[in-house]
Amino acid sequence: MNICVIGGGYVGLITSVVFSKMGNKVICVEKNIEKIKKLNKGIPTIFEEGLNELLNKSLNSKSILFTDNLKEGVNKSDVIFIAVGTPSTKDGNVDMSQITNVINEISSFINEYKVIVNKSTVPVGSQKYVKKLLIENGVNPKNFDVVSNPEFLREGKAIYDFLHGDRIVIGHDSEKAKDIIKKLYEPFKIVTIFTTPETAELIKYASNAFLSTKISFINEIANLCNKVGADIDTISYALGLDKRISPQFLKPGIGFGGSCFPKDTIGLVKIGERYGSDFKIVKSAIKVNEYQRILPVKVLLDEYKDIKGKIISILGLTFKSETDDIRESPSLYIIEELLKKGAVIKAYDPMASNEIKKLFPDIQYFDNLYDTLLDSSSMIICTDWKEFSNIDLEVVKKKMKNPFIIDGRNVLDIKKVEKNNINYYSIGKGYIK
Ligand code: NAD
Repeated sequence: MNICVIGGGYVGLITSVVFSKMGNKVICVEKNIEKIKKLNKGIPTIFEEGLNELLNKSLNSKSILFTDNLKEGVNKSDVIFIAVGTPSTKDGNVDMSQITNVINEISSFINEYKVIVNKSTVPVGSQKYVKKLLIENGVNPKNFDVVSNPEFLREGKAIYDFLHGDRIVIGHDSEKAKDIIKKLYEPFKIVTIFTTPETAELIKYASNAFLSTKISFINEIANLCNKVGADIDTISYALGLDKRISPQFLKPGIGFGGSCFPKDTIGLVKIGERYGSDFKIVKSAIKVNEYQRILPVKVLLDEYKDIKGKIISILGLTFKSETDDIRESPSLYIIEELLKKGAVIKAYDPMASNEIKKLFPDIQYFDNLYDTLLDSSSMIICTDWKEFSNIDLEVVKKKMKNPFIIDGRNVLDIKKVEKNNINYYSIGKGYIK
């Protein structure tokens, strides 16, 4: 099939390379010229396992093109995926402006039948909104159908997830469009749910809100563990053995971040408000997360009372490992709070220092984990990068002054910490003094 993907970010780029791998011709339309130049040269614009190889294969076989030429993309394609951003507005509602702009931009190019697919995460009613907008813009209703096809990929495992996801959700109100999208996804051999657009749109929010709630729940249990001397790992393991609960998303830490969970939880609360539904559970999950993501700062204040002038090392700036995405990363909130309290910050991340420099230009960044630690009083592990779990604690002791480690992702081996006699705080696994 001939496919156009509008938006070449995390979702659009993965959608493009995977559909091209599956034998389709893909035109990915992106408005950022720098991204287009890099991608056409085979240089990935995001860090994602397997992307480099897949991108270059697609370019070599000429089954993918990156361009800013929307007219060409729309004219040459049967199916048009919209994968632009839907960030939160200041009050937590979903900002639909990028979607609206895309629809306004493509309207004059739709002269024959196209299936327009909302892959972006959009509120209930968005499929109807897009249809209405196209008609208001003068597009003949016979020339299009709009389908909702939310994306569930995880950053860091995006290509794998796109190819082997747990389910594909297609919300449609047209058998013609359904058949086309069904054919497109058939080779993936993934359970596919065909439903109404409203149901599809809500499935995405329900999934992300549920997973976020699970994380906040285990974090509350973990915080209690620290107070009563219980062990969160054993609790998570025991909980996860119950098939009704499942072991996924039971790892405690300093909360969820990224471009989806924070915005989609508040997004669902706002959608609920619009229809008179008060999402008390999701609101609480958000509140717990707001507490959890700056928990290390509270722990530091308990320890030192005053942290003005203290040198604190922040290890890990991305919201999780295996990605370069810093959006809504807990480390951003921690750095902000520490700076307010007058701490001196040294930061290290194997992937994302350049991005975070734009937000905090005045803190010190390092290319090497151990150089970062020199003369620091405390280290906060914010991301579960593998190199942090392998850290040599003997070197840590030499580099730092009386080290206090706050392990925000529970990556260190407690036995090694005990052996090295290090002051250590973990999320629900113990407080070693
Ligand atoms: P992103 O910000 O990485 O990418 C969006 C891209 O769209 C940017 O490159 C931007 O330049 C481009 N763009 C915006 N307007 C454009 C236009 N008019 N024409 C061409 N290009 C345009 O965002 P993302 O993380 O890929 O997320 C996209 C959507 O997918 C969001 O709704 C998000 O909630 C959803 N989603 C994201 C993930 C994830 O893990 N990132 C997972 C599932 C769903």
